[in-house]
Amino acid sequence: MKCRRCRGSAVVEVRRHNAAYCRGCFLHVTRAQVERAIRSWAMLRPSDRVLVAVSGGKDSLALWDILLDLGYRADGLYLGLGIGGYSERSAEVVRAFAASRSATLREVDLAEAYGFDVPTAGRRGSRSTCAVCGLSKRYVFNREALEGGYDVVATGHNLDDEAATLLGNTLRWQTDAIARQSPVLPAADGLVKKVKPLFRLSELETAAYAFLRGIDYVVEECPLVAGNTQLRYKQAMNAIEAGSPGTKAQFFLGYLQRGRPRFEGADRPELEPCARCGQPTTGRFCAFCRARAQILGERLEPRASGAGEDRQVAEELAEEVLPAELYGAGPRG
Ligand code: SF4
Ligand SMILES: [Zn+2]
Ligand SMILES: [Zn+2]
Repeated sequence: MKCRRCRGSAVVEVRRHNAAYCRGCFLHVTRAQVERAIRSWAMLRPSDRVLVAVSGGKDSLALWDILLDLGYRADGLYLGLGIGGYSERSAEVVRAFAASRSATLREVDLAEAYGFDVPTAGRRGSRSTCAVCGLSKRYVFNREALEGGYDVVATGHNLDDEAATLLGNTLRWQTDAIARQSPVLPAADGLVKKVKPLFRLSELETAAYAFLRGIDYVVEECPLVAGNTQLRYKQAMNAIEAGSPGTKAQFFLGYLQRGRPRFEGADRPELEPCARCGQPTTGRFCAFCRARAQILGERLEPRASGAGEDRQVAEELAEEVLPAELYGAGPRG
């Protein structure tokens, strides 16, 4: 196989582009895809302070690596989930990466800061483990970014994540969620801007990038991944992609070009500060504070609020918690 760009000997094949590349050209083309994503969606300004949500997986570390190479002021944020050896190894690779790039890493330990870890949340709460995990990540990233004075949070969602999320939303015709799915979520009252610069790259491409760059990342899956719905949608997309390379890209990139405009117009609900923590929410207490109170056996308020608010929180959770939408690349992110 010859490299499409320089005709040297190729080391990576990208089937959906019907192309192969040598190491140098593959790294070049990958960075160019990220630059294109950033430019065409006005994701980042050169002066922005960027907080990269890093999990120890290939996607988020590849993202941090590329943003640093492109000259952005990008710090990392690692959230310790307390998932035994998996979390310990994840923290180690993230710290080693930050040290190797002389980059700034912020760390938050969920149990230390909020009183519960993810396995406990799965046992005690009424939501699935991944649901509470995803909710916690989303909450902590936003809060840390606000408190640290960052302009934008960047996550390592790749094309596979986005296609799987869109498939899940479409199968259930969650039109509000479909309308909101975007590589950029603008800042709103109390919500920091969120961007997904890897949305044009497949999981295989980010894995190849990390490997060719010599980035040490956690390969093992989270031990709590069983039952993760996002994973099933990914597997379904992979089965289709195997027979028809390019389907994922057509599905998601085609949605951005032609599908999304048809879903626009869904109103963003009014946000108010949570009565417990001050983060924006559509209810009186935010979904995170409610989940946390349930896990810790606390009571946030008398039951008088009625079923309406409970239902609202259930809806918020259902929309918010597909894990890959929240943090790096989902199960492995
Ligand atoms: S699979 Fe992902 S979302 Fe689920 S518990 Fe593990 S890290 Fe959290
Ligand atoms: Zn080449
Ligand atoms: Zn709250």
